[in-house]
Amino acid sequence: MNDRTGRIDVGILGATGTVGQQFVRLLAAHPWFRASWLAASERSEGKRYSEAATWRLGGQAPADAAGAVVQACQPGRGPRLVFSALDASAAADVEPAFAKAGHVVVSNARSFRMQPDVPLLIPEINPEHLALITRQRRERGWAGAIVTNPNCATVVAAMVLGPLRTFGIRSVIVTTMQAVSGAGYPGVPSLDIVSNVIPRISGEEEKIESETQKILGSMTDGAVTPHAMVVSAHTNRVPVIDGHTETLSIGFDERPSPSAIRKALEEFRGRPQTLSLPSAPPQPIVCLDADDRPQPRLDVDLDHGMGVTVGRIRNCPVLHTKLVALGHNTIRGAAGAAVLNAELLASERIIEFD
Ligand code: NAP
Repeated sequence: MNDRTGRIDVGILGATGTVGQQFVRLLAAHPWFRASWLAASERSEGKRYSEAATWRLGGQAPADAAGAVVQACQPGRGPRLVFSALDASAAADVEPAFAKAGHVVVSNARSFRMQPDVPLLIPEINPEHLALITRQRRERGWAGAIVTNPNCATVVAAMVLGPLRTFGIRSVIVTTMQAVSGAGYPGVPSLDIVSNVIPRISGEEEKIESETQKILGSMTDGAVTPHAMVVSAHTNRVPVIDGHTETLSIGFDERPSPSAIRKALEEFRGRPQTLSLPSAPPQPIVCLDADDRPQPRLDVDLDHGMGVTVGRIRNCPVLHTKLVALGHNTIRGAAGAAVLNAELLASERIIEFD
């Protein structure tokens, strides 16, 4: 059902959380989608959104959302397209129930990312993986579908590695410096993180290692063959509010020069750019010249948080190339990524929403 502006009605599961609030903010100004149904846990059900969610982004919650009554996450009630910012423990049951009831669930949660019939999508890197939806619906008998976006640290690495596949990536060592907003709210206790670095984020290293292989993988005979590279991840939580910074060392079959790497990154454009999707950054990867950039405080908001910035591309004495990359974890790594996924679904009419 569309409103009179022609926008498609959409729902948000987990609308009250850190990522849910980013969805509410992004969709309030979206030219194609209108968030007309907000849902969360029993704790929030029946309350006005302004009471249920303590707004933690700048300014105030958009007026339409603030006055909406938060619903239970009950399948069949909301619009056909729902974004999910659910806690993974809830997503494991709620998302398939929605897909079974005919909803298209565009999810941030980890629960289904690595299932062989579920697209783990970055529209610039692997739009062809959407073909998995046909198999998913056939095998699971769903009228709807689940499409996922990567973990917030994976997406930064995969955006950089995608354009470099042409040089034959064989091995990657990635070390992350991850913002506290990546842990949701209230997240990491302040006494643990202020003036400190925590050298472990539970489950995160495994996600980066396996998800990048799937995202860069090729589609053959209705299945994704993971990219044949080894990935070793070190993950660290640092006292930054927004923006995951990552250093990568990359080993290739070829030996591309730093200038060849820079050219490949800067010239890279994907399907969202060709289709001029509303959330697509005009240039997905921007390389900075200053040798102390990117920095989260200065660079995280590039292209409304959808751009990835790269700096310090140089030779590596162990592998071939090393560099630094930065992306916004709750936008490019979560809500913005899911909105871009939904724009691709709508634009290519892979799924009709009305
Ligand atoms: P969060 O702030 O803790 O929010 C969780 C949301 O899920 C809230 O709206 C909460 O509703 C709802 N919820 C929890 N249990 C529920 C249940 N049993 N039934 C229905 N709703 C329930 O978490 P977040 O940081 O926004 O993360 C949301 C998801 O996105 C997670 O799966 C996370 O791993 C993923 N993600 C997060 C980031 C990031 O940077 N933060 C990046 C990528 C992916 P109430 O308010 O009513 O409790």
